[in-house]
Amino acid sequence: MTDQDVRTLVESHLATIPDFPEPGILFRDLTPVFADGPAFHALSEALTEPFAGRFDVLAGVEARGFLLAGAASVLSGAGVLPVRKAGKLPRKVLREEYALEYGTAALEVHEGELPPGTRVLVVDDVLATGGTVGAAARLVERAGWQVAGIAVAIELVDLGGREALGDRYEIFSLLQY
Ligand code: AMP
Repeated sequence: MTDQDVRTLVESHLATIPDFPEPGILFRDLTPVFADGPAFHALSEALTEPFAGRFDVLAGVEARGFLLAGAASVLSGAGVLPVRKAGKLPRKVLREEYALEYGTAALEVHEGELPPGTRVLVVDDVLATGGTVGAAARLVERAGWQVAGIAVAIELVDLGGREALGDRYEIFSLLQY
């Protein structure tokens, strides 16, 4: 399947919902993509392909990033690091606060979950302002691991996430709006 075929397949299953969860937000809903076997497979494969041979573990950001990282993990043979919302992990954590397109939140990982220097590819569904994947990437660095890159299904270009993250990280997005 060519890159364009993957984009067309994924896009054909994507739902776009105006004014959710707040007026003015155009919500990009991947659940119909997850529900379609071939589209989910193609998306999961496409996210890691640009980073082939350059990562050991996929960091999936709760919650939709878990699905993508889990599927991509099975396809690529890499492990998964769950990057969780605050208060969910039972052992000693590192925490990063961040601003969302709507609201604020915090992400956490277990300290010492991976060996020092592990190459971690951060995976999420949508890159908007960059706050979420930026916080995940900072957690990876603070924990003593390396950020192999950031891979998302959808990049909302006008929200400037790529610029906010700077040229510190290699960023791949399958679809741009
Ligand atoms: P940000 O931190 O601003 O880059 O926002 C990205 C996070 O918020 C991702 O985890 C998305 O799940 C969610 N998100 C933000 N904006 C949208 C949107 N327009 N449609 C769907 N999800 C979004």
